[in-house]
Amino acid sequence: MKPAPFAYHRPETLDEALAVLAAHGGEAKPLAGGQSLIPAMNFRLARPAVLVDLNRITELSGIRQGGDGLHIGAMTRQRAVERDPIVARDAPLLAEAMPFIAHPQIRNRGTVGGSLAHADPAAELPAVMLALDAKLQVRGPAPRGVRSIPAGEFYTGLFETALAPGELLVDVTVPRAAPRSGSAFAEVARRHGDYALAGVAVRVTVDDAGRCREARIALLSVGDGPVLARKAAKAITGESPTPEAIREAADVAAAKDIDPPGDIHASPAYRRQLVAVLVRRTLERAFERARNG
Ligand SMILES: Cc1cc2nc3c(=O)[nH]c(=O)nc-3n(C[C@H](O)[C@H](O)[C@H](O)COP(=O)(O)OP(=O)(O)OC[C@H]3O[C@@H](n4cnc5c(N)ncnc54)[C@H](O)[C@@H]3O)c2cc1C
Repeated sequence: MKPAPFAYHRPETLDEALAVLAAHGGEAKPLAGGQSLIPAMNFRLARPAVLVDLNRITELSGIRQGGDGLHIGAMTRQRAVERDPIVARDAPLLAEAMPFIAHPQIRNRGTVGGSLAHADPAAELPAVMLALDAKLQVRGPAPRGVRSIPAGEFYTGLFETALAPGELLVDVTVPRAAPRSGSAFAEVARRHGDYALAGVAVRVTVDDAGRCREARIALLSVGDGPVLARKAAKAITGESPTPEAIREAADVAAAKDIDPPGDIHASPAYRRQLVAVLVRRTLERAFERARNG
């Protein structure tokens, strides 16, 4: 299929892009890697009258370490994040999750900002950013201007975010991990590169005695957006991460933190079972990594 007709703008700067978006209101859509938007347009599920191509805006790309953590520009390609040594060192959870996103060809074009803004509940990056307690920097017209939105407040529903019309996601900040932190990612998909039936991103911190000081357990593909498993985190916090305590927290995640959908790929009961197993495995790995520094 071919998309419905649209006007095309290719601004060179962020200010120019924001001006074009402001001029066209809800009629305009930003174009990043095009790996989700263009198929949606070809199927006529999306019919933006105006496309604002962000690919020439160099200030939106790049990875750098700042005082408040790791900054990743919205137009940074997923493949660049996957291969970046700073990401591997300072945000190992992100590095571990990247190869699960689609296929290398798609990651060569797909961007971090595009995936986060698209808000697919089965996508890896929203759950990873939720586990890492990342902040999403957004720019738009006055009076809102620049906003910093915690990942936990960014996702508001199925394919819905806190982005207002005319706003652009410009940068993601991953805060520096506390000492004695460990993380892990796991998912189950029918074939490698497919969207996951269920997935888990966790980050834990332990105290001097090895007890769990903090746990952030984020789930994907089991709700309208990424889900923070608060009850499971509460169950493990303050405890020694013994196999029994971990299993109990994983069972809480599956039984009490989610209300998973059923579809042709997996029933709600199967998704719960996957979550119980994946939370257990990721917590085990994350605590081991936290203990080993
Ligand atoms: C075959 C196939 C398999 C895939 N499998 C997976 C998978 O397993 N896991 C996964 O996570 N993804 C998967 N994807 C999606 C892929 O990761 C996309 O790259 C990603 O979802 C969108 O990123 P993009 O840069 O291509 O954004 P685009 O497609 O260009 O845009 C997506 C949406 O975000 C908006 N947008 C883009 N950038 C911004 C911005 N800076 N500010 C505000 N809004 C913005 C656009 O307007 C659009 O609505 C798959 C895609 C394909 C084609």
